[in-house]
Amino acid sequence: MKPGKVYIVGAGPGHPELLTLKAAELLRTGDVIVYDRLIQEEVLALAKPAAERIYMGKPVGKHDSRQDEIHEILVQKAREGKTVVRLKGGDPFVFGRGGEEAEYLAGHDVPFEIIPGVTSALSAPLSAGIAVTHRDSASCVAIVTGHEAKDEESRLDWSVLAKMPTLVFLMGVKNAGRIAGRLIENGRSPDTPAAVIQMAFWHDEHVVVGTLATIAEDIEREGIKPPATLVIGDVVRLREKLRIAKRDLKRRTDGTSRFEPAPAPDQLLRLATAGLGTQALGFALENALFDALEDAVSAEDLSTRAGFNAQAMPEVLDALVALGILEKKDGRYRNLELATRYLRQSSPQSLRPALLHQARSSASWRRLEVYAREGCKDFVAVGDDAAYEASCESLARFAAPAVAEQLDLESSGPVLLVGWGNEAYEKALNARWPGLSFTAVNPFTSTKRALRMLCPIPEDGPYGTVLLSGLLASCDRGQVQKVLDESAAALTPGGSLVLHDSFLPVSALPPPEVVLGALGRHMTRGGCRTWSIGRLTDALTALGFGAIASKALPAGTVLVTARRG
Ligand code: SAH
Repeated sequence: MKPGKVYIVGAGPGHPELLTLKAAELLRTGDVIVYDRLIQEEVLALAKPAAERIYMGKPVGKHDSRQDEIHEILVQKAREGKTVVRLKGGDPFVFGRGGEEAEYLAGHDVPFEIIPGVTSALSAPLSAGIAVTHRDSASCVAIVTGHEAKDEESRLDWSVLAKMPTLVFLMGVKNAGRIAGRLIENGRSPDTPAAVIQMAFWHDEHVVVGTLATIAEDIEREGIKPPATLVIGDVVRLREKLRIAKRDLKRRTDGTSRFEPAPAPDQLLRLATAGLGTQALGFALENALFDALEDAVSAEDLSTRAGFNAQAMPEVLDALVALGILEKKDGRYRNLELATRYLRQSSPQSLRPALLHQARSSASWRRLEVYAREGCKDFVAVGDDAAYEASCESLARFAAPAVAEQLDLESSGPVLLVGWGNEAYEKALNARWPGLSFTAVNPFTSTKRALRMLCPIPEDGPYGTVLLSGLLASCDRGQVQKVLDESAAALTPGGSLVLHDSFLPVSALPPPEVVLGALGRHMTRGGCRTWSIGRLTDALTALGFGAIASKALPAGTVLVTARRG
């Protein structure tokens, strides 16, 4: 199995609105979230419902780390093919042990990536109105661990630290007295302003201000507990001027969350395809599929036994897998425990009549029934070409910047775009590579019935890159092959073929919106249902392409890249 990937992600100081966009996206899509103590509930709430959440924080005040355990879990989950989000407070590389985790993953050949976060070293002072550098009073700031103050073997040079305009100590609350003592011993004035910020950006944020001479007592008196950040230097004085009276970050009030993350494109697609889930369930109940799936059965056997189409049936069963009702192992399908009890006709706990009635009241699965019995025609007439074309165009327009980000056209030579999203691609590619030679045609648009290729792809190449946008979605089987042939002919040797399309499952466990999206399109349009990533790879290999790679992009689309031999 292809190993998954571990993202070591900085979660910032805690508030969901202070996450990076990338962190929020990864949270929404990750299969496993491994998190620490300092992560707010509202941040975790972004994770998809099916995500596995693993808490790996050490209890407050305990120093025995669970680092070895964390390392093992990250490797194990990645090897299961999962996307793992290792969520860490602040920035992963600021006293966060993110470096050790990355090192371990590298040593075990697990792909990983590190996403920065807003560190508390800078944001905790900011939250209290303290600018750690300020034109008039500080041109340098040191970020220091507070753990080593009591340590005689300390690797810190306190005579140097004492001269730093601004000092920020993390993990320093317990040792604040010793820290202040060492700085004073090394010549820093006891009157130097000092502040402690506890739980910055959380509900119980609390700030205490004093001087080097008083700060330890102030902490004691105010009952400040970790996590808190200690700031020392003249910049603390500016706090009075810079303090924020009221914050505009949305936070939870009265126990209900006011933080409403905008749904990601994938979540919206899930909504758009949700009705098909009802149809698939209704169809399965009506045909007593769950009674037939007590033992693992291949789609082929089931089709033969029950008179279904052997090509359409796996798609219907995959939809039930994606919905979490069936399991699939080694190409065979079986009920999950839950399904056995509630969905089987013969079970004492059967809810089948109620579910069937509910499903009938909200959907009709006649078309699905026909599809499951008869399979797919190579190209079915489309009722509304204009709507379909607009759909292709909007997906291409949406994806163009994401596709551009995945490419390297630095020394590509002329680029030919065949398909949807001409203007969006021109803009996205030009933004990255100004002056790129770019030609675009859309031969897929048509007037009636199935989309037809109205013109062949231009022969005025050779091109360094041919980008096929929405090809599989818009052509029938023979046409796809023809465009691939023509693209290969139009490319210079070593040139790249890039294919962006919708709803092609690239992973063993694609999300429901991808599986249902494909099923829905095949039911109503046919055509490209005969193309899968496997088939595409074979066709490209036969044409002499190598380095064939595929990748899922947002909104259920997929990017395939290949190099001409
Ligand atoms: N990687 C983290 C720091 C980890 S060390 C980051 O970049 O922020 C943990 C220390 O960070 C705590 O002991 C405390 O000093 C500081 N800290 C973490 N969250 C904080 C918060 N909400 N308010 C103030 N200090 C915080």
